[in-house]
Amino acid sequence: MAQRGRLVQVMIAAFTAMPQLELPVVSVTPPKPELLAAPSAELLDQLAEESKRLESATPEQIIEWAVSAYFPKLTMATAFGPEGCVILYMLSQIEPRTHVFNLDTGYQFTETLQLRDEIARRYGIEVEMKRPATTVEEYEAHHGGPLYKTNPDQCCFDRKVTVLREAAKGWSAWMSGIRRDQSPDRARAPIVGWDKKFGLVKISPLANWTKNDVWKLITDKNIPYNPLHDQGYTSIGCWPCTRAVLFGEDERAGRWSGTAKTECGLHTQ
Ligand code: SF4
Repeated sequence: MAQRGRLVQVMIAAFTAMPQLELPVVSVTPPKPELLAAPSAELLDQLAEESKRLESATPEQIIEWAVSAYFPKLTMATAFGPEGCVILYMLSQIEPRTHVFNLDTGYQFTETLQLRDEIARRYGIEVEMKRPATTVEEYEAHHGGPLYKTNPDQCCFDRKVTVLREAAKGWSAWMSGIRRDQSPDRARAPIVGWDKKFGLVKISPLANWTKNDVWKLITDKNIPYNPLHDQGYTSIGCWPCTRAVLFGEDERAGRWSGTAKTECGLHTQ
């Protein structure tokens, strides 16, 4: 209990020093995991409680809560999918100074990279590109060719998971644009939870949204999106591992098509 009391005091002091925000209707004491060496059972309980409470909140309210709780130690990862673009739009309204990064594997579509510039121009949010230690040329030379053809799990681990692990250092929480209805793996995603793979709190403001919800907001607010979506690419990752989907196929059927792989490893524990 003494530890909890100190935690609350530190958080109150931190909030007092922060810019005044219009707090979301949902507001309880948010935990600060960086104050703890490892997530305690108490912290995990607090996160579970927050997550449960935020189940009925809108994405904007969840982002406001995340900003209230963690900014400026809050970051967001985006691959510039429609969900990411929606969150970037919301962040531009709520706290545009929030740090955002992209895992630039070296295999991204040109259209994806161009979207980064459009987002910066439109919303003033400069997405930082986080890159692996090796260039694509060095990586392929080291492995005797493109690893995505022979061992995509290793390729994703080296060029995404390892990079996110590095990028996560120093932050308290990260946001992602995953939706529960995207895949069975994502169906279990909490709104807020401890991400043990990367060692920080993970927030998924769009967990309860559908694809239609996302595209309605994009249309209503004229939010920029990847033009490849208009060519049948419903989910866009690296170009070697992405194809357009056929009518009636699942929205993620174009990712690692023809293999059993369905996730890059960022959103699985
Ligand atoms: S999506 Fe494909 S190219 Fe990109 S990191 Fe994974 S295996 Fe490599």
